[in-house]
Amino acid sequence: MSDLRPCPLCGGEAMVFAFPGLKKPLNWIVRCRNGCVRTFSFDDETTAIETWNHRYTDGNAQDKKEILGQIDDIMAFVANEVNPIVSPEDYWVYSNLYDDLEQLKITCEQKFNR
Ligand SMILES: [Zn+2]
Repeated sequence: MSDLRPCPLCGGEAMVFAFPGLKKPLNWIVRCRNGCVRTFSFDDETTAIETWNHRYTDGNAQDKKEILGQIDDIMAFVANEVNPIVSPEDYWVYSNLYDDLEQLKITCEQKFNR
């Protein structure tokens, strides 16, 4: 298994985590042990690790601005493009996703301003 880079926000240790999925046997994510951030879930461990290791790490102001901008873009996409076409049974998934993104943005802002 390849090495995991530390958490981009707190510098803490990261961990690989697998859980059973509805549509696939296992979902793989990498997350900070302190609960700061995690990747999306992937079909395989390697992709989850590569995704975790390939991201902003030097913590400069431009990167932070870009990260917050990307979260805004995803939230706008969920609100404007995804919500209108989601069936009522699936609505809670996207509603939770939006809430999680909002929480992620707040967490990032708090960590960045420290
Ligand atoms: Zn962390």
